[in-house]
Amino acid sequence: MNVILLGYPGSGKGTQAKVLAKQFGLFHVSTGDIFREELAKKTPLGREVAGYLSAGRLVPDKLVLEVLKNRLGTETRGLLFDGFPRTVEQAEGLDAWFDSRGMAVDAVIFINVPEAEVAKRLGDRRTCSGCGRIYNVGTQPPAKADVCDACGKPLVTREDDKPGVIIRRLQVYRDQTEPLLAYYRAAGNFYEANGGLDPESVAASIAGMLKGK
Ligand code: AMP
Repeated sequence: MNVILLGYPGSGKGTQAKVLAKQFGLFHVSTGDIFREELAKKTPLGREVAGYLSAGRLVPDKLVLEVLKNRLGTETRGLLFDGFPRTVEQAEGLDAWFDSRGMAVDAVIFINVPEAEVAKRLGDRRTCSGCGRIYNVGTQPPAKADVCDACGKPLVTREDDKPGVIIRRLQVYRDQTEPLLAYYRAAGNFYEANGGLDPESVAASIAGMLKGK
């Protein structure tokens, strides 16, 4: 089973992907995490994408597709995409690549959260610098301020979760990613989850959509 999670930055794709990957035995593919890892390791790819990430702009489609194909070429588990595709060109690239390997997208889940709500969530988001766990200072704070409950490392505000960059990322989503909703609606296998609910309820509703796939 191959699944795509769509939605605004801050709609809960990463949080849901972690839960669902475990529950359904899928391989969680977050292009954002891949780029941040490369950035932290200061690899040539990391240096190439740094400017896009810090400005909240999209990494060019060709590069994103190349990185994914390299990373996933030998993966045999079902894939759970979080943050990819982000443009119609990427979706077409994925379709062509899947076709060539006899694979298909089995479900596209749009996690629907109003823009004002995601803007607030992104501003309140803190990310563990060690294990990547996500917190919200308002609704899901850690037990001890600024320290990860899971691994004890400090929590940080992602560079692109700072106010000016948030505005840019929301605009990029509207302009470049939202057209994907029509693309996948037309392709079938499209589901919409109410992302305004608490994370456990969102996970349960998505799990219901994926059961029997
Ligand atoms: P995310 O963690 O998914 O919000 O991604 C963080 C940043 O990584 C984005 O703002 C983009 O700069 C870059 N990025 C992640 N995924 C993609 C993608 N599929 N296409 C282009 N850029 C991406």
